[in-house]
Amino acid sequence: MSSIIRLLPDNIANQIAAGEVIQRPASVVKELLENAIDAGADKIHLVIRDGGRTLIQIVDNGKGMTEEDAHMCFERHATSKLRSSEDLFTLQTKGFRGEALASIAAIAHVELITKPAESELAYKIEIEGSELKTTGVTTSSNGTTFSVKNLFYNVPARRNFLKSDQIENGHISVEFERLALVHPEVEFNYSSNGTTLFTLKKSNLKKRISEVLGKNYEQRLVPIEALTDIVEITGFVVKPEFSKKKRGDQYLFVNDRFFKDNYLNHAVTSAFENLIADRAFPAYFIYLKVPTQSIDVNVHPTKTEIKFEEDRAIYQILKSTIKQALGKFHIAPSLDFSLNPEFEIPSFSQRNEAIQPVIDTNPNYNPFQSKVNSSRNTNTITRMSGFGRESDNKMAIDNFFELSKEELDQFPGVDLEIESNTTAAQVELFHTEINIQQHLFTGVHIILMHHELTIIHANRARQRVIYEQLMHTFMLQPIASQQLLFPIEKEVDKKELIIWESNKSSLERIGFNWTISEDQLNVFGIPTCVREVEALNCIDEIIIQLSQNELHPGEIAHTLINTLAFSASRTKINLFETEIRSELIHQLFQCKEHTFTPNGLKIITSLPTEELNARL
Ligand code: ADP
Ligand code: MG
Repeated sequence: MSSIIRLLPDNIANQIAAGEVIQRPASVVKELLENAIDAGADKIHLVIRDGGRTLIQIVDNGKGMTEEDAHMCFERHATSKLRSSEDLFTLQTKGFRGEALASIAAIAHVELITKPAESELAYKIEIEGSELKTTGVTTSSNGTTFSVKNLFYNVPARRNFLKSDQIENGHISVEFERLALVHPEVEFNYSSNGTTLFTLKKSNLKKRISEVLGKNYEQRLVPIEALTDIVEITGFVVKPEFSKKKRGDQYLFVNDRFFKDNYLNHAVTSAFENLIADRAFPAYFIYLKVPTQSIDVNVHPTKTEIKFEEDRAIYQILKSTIKQALGKFHIAPSLDFSLNPEFEIPSFSQRNEAIQPVIDTNPNYNPFQSKVNSSRNTNTITRMSGFGRESDNKMAIDNFFELSKEELDQFPGVDLEIESNTTAAQVELFHTEINIQQHLFTGVHIILMHHELTIIHANRARQRVIYEQLMHTFMLQPIASQQLLFPIEKEVDKKELIIWESNKSSLERIGFNWTISEDQLNVFGIPTCVREVEALNCIDEIIIQLSQNELHPGEIAHTLINTLAFSASRTKINLFETEIRSELIHQLFQCKEHTFTPNGLKIITSLPTEELNARL
């Protein structure tokens, strides 16, 4: 039998490797930006077209490459950053694998123009799918320009997998920001389809953060600093009152690399304990420096996890550094250097006499005696996010009544409608139940219908009704807008602004009108269905929704209208008015879907009367 194993041709091997390293345009941006920084550039231009699909260009003023290196750099495992295995432990550069350029060249049309300071002319090279197309000389300033065109032109599966330009641009911005936030000494320019998104001059860290995330950040930052043998910590946390409802703006860097770490995130969050609302997330920009040999960055190139040798100690140092900083700036009421219990050494005093340990028992305790108060009567309200998807059909009645505080505040009272054939005992039962559970039942409409106890959550019913009405209008014409005498001012960061502006036509169609000044949206037109007092919350929620989810164009209308419907349903209506009540029920049953809200929360639940009788 003849041998069947062959070595893969280089172009195929590179294409396979590219599948790992280059997942989307943002991965190319990350690799090329990192290379430019490694090449010592202090001026970098990033040019994007069509979400990076047609062009990603990076121009740097770094050290450039010789003609030989310009060829070598596209070879697999070709790097100038690593010579021996010992170097792995003292790496100062971002790259070291020598994989990125070989991978990119395998799946795109790449043009490289590069000129080291010592050379008169620049060298130009064009590669398509790992195949050398042209070489030659040209004129250029010192440094390197990579132009990556038609990404994934030969990998249809990857090309088709790409999301909308808006989403790809979002990923690119994330990578750009992670680099820009760690290199304030580098000047950056970033444009997309001819529009400049960022012009960042050389500056210090504090200014850079506010240039990237919004001018107002500068006053909100509290500096943190700790110098220990294990770790050096610098950076900023954002004052607790500016914590947002959305995650994001949580940046951890170690030795100038962005990384994610739930454990250290917990250290920060716990330092903020009791200073921020439950649903808010602290924002921070934390820069750790540790000895290079004490971390393992040799994880997958696209992963952002890093292993630390001394993670427990770093946790403690980070937490107390932040607490101290918040205390120093009179943000936290008192200093509390809470120690890890393991580190606590109990003190022993000779003067105190030893006390004999005793076991405390209750001789009257009877395990079979049931408690007087069931847990339902105590405060069992749990929070339910207004927008979380929770479409579990089997949701128990108990859960159905677990209302948020906001929901509880919306409605005047419980309502009860009894069909004529209901027994007195049943009515009595409802009254008793309702009295006991009034605080839980607020806003819930109870009716007996078709021999069933049917419970309608009025708030959600209204959300569903308004959603369907608005969606119907939206399909035919713009939703009516009301003009405000005084515009609503909403502070936004660059990312939020991009998100808002890239959904301009949909937002205008649902009734918003605005102007932009600096880092602020001035909203002077809001949908008529949203009350003015609700408008700011509604805008906040829209931004959260649009930035948290990767939405397909078809989902955007649904999300926007659902957010409007949610805000519009927050009005008080008097359910004691029979007409209002019947109208709502009537409208609900006319909806295409009346059992769930558009985001999957249950509107109606029922219990057959036989089951009720069986329980009596
Ligand atoms: P790595 O960064 O892991 O070394 P890459 O494939 O990204 O691997 O790059 C290969 C080599 O090409 C680098 O080691 C570097 O010597 C050279 N190179 C890449 N980009 C630049 C650049 N912008 N300026 C100068 N040299 C570069
Ligand atoms: Mg590299």
